[in-house]
Amino acid sequence: MSSNAKSADALHRETLAVRLATERSQYGENSEALFLTSGYVQPSAEDSARRFAGEDDGYTYGRSGNPTVTSFEMRLAAMEGAEACMATASGMAAVMLMCFSLLKAGDHVIISQSMFGSTLKLIGSEFGRFGVETSVVPQTDLAAWRAAMRPTTRLLFAETPTNPLGEVCDIQALADLAHNAGALLAVDNCFATPVLQRPIALGADIVMHSGTKYLDGQGRVMAGALCAREAMVHEKFLPVQKNSGMVLSPFNAWVVLKGLETLDLRMKAQSAQTLALAHWLEAHPAVGRVYYPGLASHPQHELAMRQMNGIGGAVLSFDVKAASPEQARQRAFHVLDALQVLSLCTNLGDTKTLCTHPASTSHGKLSEAQRQAAGIGQGLIRVAVGLEHLDDIRSDLDRGLSSL
Ligand SMILES: *Cc1c(COP(=O)(O)O)cnc(C)c1O
Repeated sequence: MSSNAKSADALHRETLAVRLATERSQYGENSEALFLTSGYVQPSAEDSARRFAGEDDGYTYGRSGNPTVTSFEMRLAAMEGAEACMATASGMAAVMLMCFSLLKAGDHVIISQSMFGSTLKLIGSEFGRFGVETSVVPQTDLAAWRAAMRPTTRLLFAETPTNPLGEVCDIQALADLAHNAGALLAVDNCFATPVLQRPIALGADIVMHSGTKYLDGQGRVMAGALCAREAMVHEKFLPVQKNSGMVLSPFNAWVVLKGLETLDLRMKAQSAQTLALAHWLEAHPAVGRVYYPGLASHPQHELAMRQMNGIGGAVLSFDVKAASPEQARQRAFHVLDALQVLSLCTNLGDTKTLCTHPASTSHGKLSEAQRQAAGIGQGLIRVAVGLEHLDDIRSDLDRGLSSL
């Protein structure tokens, strides 16, 4: 804890987001220091022995800890309301660390079919090679999650809201389902962030993050994290992390640490712009359906507002109107190619507005039938809304939409 922030418990989340970090160095730097070092000089051979025996938590080597990384972990844990946090090299490294630490051959995992594509592949295919069994269920169908439970079910892993349609699942209900069977619930909180949604308060055991997205918030670095109880972080995640090396670089930790300082402001501002853009798109003659949890027309609007602090997030998708899938694709490409200000870029969580065509990018490997089942048509455009002036975002999208 930074020396001028007295007690973490007495302070608000917004304050911890700017203040919580490891002790200042002897130089009294006000902005948190960046410790680019792979090794640490030991005070004595006796201290060194204690640290290696795990009896003293002083730093020994970059793979098992770094003060800048610790600052990021402390800060994110406080913002998520978690006891502890372990940073990782990327969001997928966090998923890898979680599964590697908690699962063994014969264990069963339940995930939603709408999860991030690499998550589905890593758990469903790669871990399948080592005897972990996976059931893939519809995101919003609680009965399907319940029906998939087995005596060997160890982990339920949900992502809410999802990409690109913003489907929302009930975290509290999934936590009850998991806990009644002695299983764990993990939640990918990438789209909502702790500003909108705190899964641990709703009963989740683990919160997984891609720090690459809103935590950094400016599209600069890759990062990831797992937030959980102290015992799980230290007894399950830390040993695997130390020995596998999926560690977050100190530089990236520093960038994301500073990103957390503006997360609250960015999420609220970008979400407000997204809601306004969603209303404008709903009224646009060239636009079909708009998918955004903040809209009353969204099928899980009520649940989303209850679970997400009354805010819908900063990602929306919409269908351009068309008579056939071929025409829909051609029209969506027309809108994207007409952009002059916004970026055609398959990322999200940036201050710059990023637009993508999911059917030919993130969901391009699915068959047309699978895409239809997932509701991802050729006319679908996803917009991860940034901080440009709303008028400029609207007119850049309108350039293509009004010339179809
Ligand atoms: C980007 C993303 C990930 C993966 O994170 P990386 O940092 O790219 O490895 C996982 N889940 C969601 C929802 C994401 O958007």
